[in-house]
Amino acid sequence: MSAGLNLAQQEAVNYMQGPCLVLAGAGSGKTRVITHKIGRLIQAGLEARRIAAITFTNKAAAEMRERARSLIGRDAKDVLICTFHALGVRMLRQDGEALGLKPQFSILDSDDVTGLLKDAGGSTDAATARQWQWAISLWKNMGLNAAQAEAQAKDDNEKVTARIMARYEERLAAYQSVDFDDLIGLPLKLLQQHPAVREKWQAQLGHVLVDEYQDTNATQYEVLKLLVGARARFTAVGDDDQSIYGWRGATLDNLRRLPLDFPSLKVVKLEQNYRSTGAILRAANNVIGPNPKLFPKVLFSELGEGEPVRIVDADHEAHEAERAVARIQSTRANGLGKDWKDFAVLYRANHQARVFEQALRKAQIPYKVSGGQSFFDRAEIKDLCSWLRLVVNNDDDPAFLRAITSPKRGIGHQTLTSLGVFAGKYKLSLFEALFSSSLASALPGRSVAGLHEFGRYVNDFEFKARHTSGADDAKVLLTDWLKDIAYEKHLYDGEENEKLAATRWTNVLEFCDWMALRCGGQIDDAAGVTTSSETKTFLQVAQTISLLSTISEREQDQNVVTLSTLHASKGLEWPHVMLVGVTEGLLPFKLGDDNNPAGRADGPMSEGILQRLQEERRLMYVGITRAQRSLAVSWTRKRKKGREMIAAQPSRFIAEMSLETATTKENPREKLKALRAEFAKKAADTVAAAAAAGAS
Ligand code: ATP
Ligand code: MG
Repeated sequence: MSAGLNLAQQEAVNYMQGPCLVLAGAGSGKTRVITHKIGRLIQAGLEARRIAAITFTNKAAAEMRERARSLIGRDAKDVLICTFHALGVRMLRQDGEALGLKPQFSILDSDDVTGLLKDAGGSTDAATARQWQWAISLWKNMGLNAAQAEAQAKDDNEKVTARIMARYEERLAAYQSVDFDDLIGLPLKLLQQHPAVREKWQAQLGHVLVDEYQDTNATQYEVLKLLVGARARFTAVGDDDQSIYGWRGATLDNLRRLPLDFPSLKVVKLEQNYRSTGAILRAANNVIGPNPKLFPKVLFSELGEGEPVRIVDADHEAHEAERAVARIQSTRANGLGKDWKDFAVLYRANHQARVFEQALRKAQIPYKVSGGQSFFDRAEIKDLCSWLRLVVNNDDDPAFLRAITSPKRGIGHQTLTSLGVFAGKYKLSLFEALFSSSLASALPGRSVAGLHEFGRYVNDFEFKARHTSGADDAKVLLTDWLKDIAYEKHLYDGEENEKLAATRWTNVLEFCDWMALRCGGQIDDAAGVTTSSETKTFLQVAQTISLLSTISEREQDQNVVTLSTLHASKGLEWPHVMLVGVTEGLLPFKLGDDNNPAGRADGPMSEGILQRLQEERRLMYVGITRAQRSLAVSWTRKRKKGREMIAAQPSRFIAEMSLETATTKENPREKLKALRAEFAKKAADTVAAAAAAGAS
């Protein structure tokens, strides 16, 4: 397992007996250490199923699984390679009953949570609900429950939000549901409060590896500590210069605390960057230079100077997009990039993608928007799918809960709570419980009647779905169904923004057309379960619905240009990268506060602004270091602000790349020597100063 690893990487891979931290800059092979170490651990006799490797996104997990498979072979499939959240799901499915959670609990996504909060807080305004969501999420990440949040509330507003949180938590329990933060918070509670569960997991996991450690939050760190226990067999890899999730509660304290909490921690530093040319790496090092250093690091590349980093200016966004497209085309024409997948366009915020999409489409260049919302993730499509899932599988409690409340049919959470308790007592699914003869004694008559009506409707739907023949039949079934449940009205009632409601309704109609065409055999089954050209009943088509989420994983091999936010680009690399919208106000993104409304570089900076600026700078560093062979950085002379176009300046980070001083070609080894000497001198000075201070 040491082939293709330098000495420092080998040291990290071979050290298996205790806690290990690999701390290094971008592209230095940290993720590679994790994949190789999985192999090394198996080679040393640890069973594959006793290894957990935790990544930051599902995509990163899929990629690591692939890399592990090609390195280790079949054993790789037994290794638990997943995100902290997915690990949380596994722990809760296995042991969540200790916390009162059924194993088939459902997981709410952000839209579901907004809906539930609107309900809990008595508001129809999504923006207000999202503010509550934000505050509650931060509290949960700090490990606070509703009562604790209320006790520490700083003002009335926070107090109100804490009370809404309490009502929200009641609803989660009633619906046997958890939100994303619970996927970390509840496993922590499980490990803290249930020693048997804790011991089981500690015995189960022989080694835990964590990638992108700098972006873990305090709760994740506590989970990690309890999972590894006193033996502390873990490997964390990270880069303090790439910490970009401070706004979501990630804390660099986790890096600071590691050597204190684990005095035997072995720290390995990697110094060679294998990803980028000298020119790109220098621009990256220059940008990150002004940030305070948690740990001094040195990074050099032996890939040669390469092409200089290009700065591209444009009049406005559309012009910038045209120039990006032209650059892609000319790079290909010059034979420097063969495949579309060699190119990435990276930006600060999701909404910036649109003009680039338009320009790429116009030029007929295939692309994908990474991290964008998939059709099947949309709330309205999930609502409809929940009905279909329930029709197919009556035991699907999460689908039951979503269907019965989408739209609301006068069945309140009190009724659902009682139904949940009743179902739990008799070990029935919620749907089975509807038809139990003793339900009438457990719930008021009016509630039972409402539940029965719903149950009968689902049964009736199932009967019809079993007997449709062809697309037209399916279309009638779908149209009747949407009318029966008054779904269009539900969308318009629940959404204050009428335009948004109209878009949602269009999505619904598109979904129905697509389902009908599949019933008629006109569309190949997307999940590859059945072949096209044969008609299917609506029920047969509905049965493949839950397989459709796997489609997104196939995207990986597509030969297309990637459009991605900087956040979603973490850990990835492309031969040719274009950083766009590197314009003051976009990157760094809105820094201003009362003292310095424009957040100007030469204005007074509060501590808060300074910290945000430093995080934006790390984001720029992440962006630059995604590039392997060429990097273009573009900005616009005008940018949108609300509905207006305002004059704009190049980002201060462009100047910080110090490109004009970057023409001298340095010998990397010489540079490394010089940097080491510089650090050694700084360290000696610090020691001398400390000694002098001690003596006086
Ligand atoms: P990031 O900080 O962006 O997450 P990283 O430190 O995780 O980067 P990797 O993605 O592991 O870096 O490696 C960057 C690139 O360098 C990859 O293409 C990887 O295959 C290559 N690489 C890493 N180590 C070596 C090595 N010892 N020899 C050759 N190539 C290497
Ligand atoms: Mg990495």
